[in-house]
Amino acid sequence: MPKKKVRHILGLSGGKDSTALAVLLHKEIPQMEYFFCDTHKELPETYEYLDRIEARLGIKIQRLSAERGFDHWLDVYGGFLPSPKSRWCTKQMKIIPLERFIGDDEAISYVGIRADENRDGYISTKPNIKPVFPFKEKGLVKADILQLLEDSGIGLPEYYRWRSRSGCFFCFFQRKYEWVMLAQEHPDLFAEAVRYEQEHSDGRQYTWTQGETLQELLARRDEIIAEHHKLVEQRRRKNNVSSLAEALEAILDEQDEVLPCLACHL
Ligand code: SF4
Repeated sequence: MPKKKVRHILGLSGGKDSTALAVLLHKEIPQMEYFFCDTHKELPETYEYLDRIEARLGIKIQRLSAERGFDHWLDVYGGFLPSPKSRWCTKQMKIIPLERFIGDDEAISYVGIRADENRDGYISTKPNIKPVFPFKEKGLVKADILQLLEDSGIGLPEYYRWRSRSGCFFCFFQRKYEWVMLAQEHPDLFAEAVRYEQEHSDGRQYTWTQGETLQELLARRDEIIAEHHKLVEQRRRKNNVSSLAEALEAILDEQDEVLPCLACHL
């Protein structure tokens, strides 16, 4: 029997690192298959960024969707909102669609973890999907990634002004400042996130962030913004960080208690 061809795959999340990896590899590996696991709950800026990547690199990004959407799975999980401890959303909407896409084929999965990061590369545990880490192999760090994006003409995603990661607009990995900014940039999406907190078939209350509802959080808007600006200024003075986006990312990363998942935020 002829040996089956190995597939080369690169998952784009709408984030900067996976995009820079596509910039780096799109000529070197012309047979690369690009995909994006669409939860249908992503930010409009993410969809715009994916279009920009396709146009600039001349590649096609396949949109993979979960068999049923978020609302279906929310029902299946009894109205229980996903959380860092119960990441059913990643499994149902990011990992399973990817595994269906690959099936039993042998595949090399290119993962955009940088040489200056200490993160795990988990995307799928299927033995036929072998992850590789070109940035790590080549010793490429954040400054290289930013340079790649700038040189390609793609630049950073628009949401970078106020949020440091791709993913669902209601992602529970969001920090308090990012929720406040979601309310400012996309009041309709913020209102939808509030509805998810309030409307449950079982009548119980779940919150996206620990310890308070989104409405309580928004009532503290001025306090959260003031605190954030203070931290950004401290960080800029201390580390000589030049751009606001960089300071934003550094501050927000420091506030993470749990590492977010790579399938959504690379
Ligand atoms: S972005 Fe956040 S909410 Fe969306 S699937 Fe990933 S972890 Fe879940």
